[in-house]
Amino acid sequence: MSDELVDWKCPNGHILGKARKTGRGAHQLILYRNAVDFTAEDPKAVEVIAVIRGQGMDIRCDICDAKRTWAAKKKLPNGVVPTLRGLAIKTV
Ligand SMILES: [Zn+2]
Repeated sequence: MSDELVDWKCPNGHILGKARKTGRGAHQLILYRNAVDFTAEDPKAVEVIAVIRGQGMDIRCDICDAKRTWAAKKKLPNGVVPTLRGLAIKTV
């Protein structure tokens, strides 16, 4: 079985990235540089800035400023905490 990629959205429906899911739940977040509003006439091209595994992390939508907390099902060892410009991210 291959993993499933699902849109990961802020509370207002802007797409912040893709969550990679297996049968055991989401375990990896592919984070876009900018939130994407696919209802806009001319959505921005997506650019991936980070792949996040394991950590709990607050991700802020740069369109509407809403926050959503990423929390993978399973905490993995040796996770890398990225430092990212343009998005307010902190580990929790
Ligand atoms: Zn948003």
